Amino acid sequence: MIITSDTGGARPVPAPPVPSALEAVFRGVRGRCPACGEGRLFGRFLKVAPSCSACGQDFHHHRADDFPPYIVMFVVGHIVGYGIYVSETRFEDVPLWLHAVLWPSLAVGLSLGLLQPVKGAVIGWQYGLGMHGFGHVPGPSGETAIERRAWGTPEAGDGVRGSTALLAEPAAAGRRDPDHPRQVH
Ligand SMILES: [Zn+2]
Repeated sequence: MIITSDTGGARPVPAPPVPSALEAVFRGVRGRCPACGEGRLFGRFLKVAPSCSACGQDFHHHRADDFPPYIVMFVVGHIVGYGIYVSETRFEDVPLWLHAVLWPSLAVGLSLGLLQPVKGAVIGWQYGLGMHGFGHVPGPSGETAIERRAWGTPEAGDGVRGSTALLAEPAAAGRRDPDHPRQVH
């Protein structure tokens, strides 16, 4: 079907290729939409945009919740804690004021710097695995995550399996109808 308009647009917008779970994670780390890699994932610092401005993928149903801060605390705690331990045991003449300035600054700076990319990675991972509201997104095989679960197919390794499935089964990959992209709401 050809869609025409007065503004000159003549083609339906094709749905972007479905990324592997790992690619979705890397897109999230960069603060980009895990589905298309173009639109912005965040509206503000840690406020996730309701949907992608480029492809329309919904984000509002993500469930990152408290997981990103837990990851950040785990990473920053080990870096800062190990730094304090090493500086106390190997460099005993480090002045106290330097400890007082360095470690709190490092803890705050690392936490603020890591929170957004880690939250993006968690949301990208949820998208890649079809978790929560992302479960209706068709995977590389054309099935949604919920359908794959119904057939008992393990989700682990979907990215690798999906990549080869796209090469080996062009018919399956092309099953998605560009007239009905998955982001229709
Ligand atoms: Zn997008």
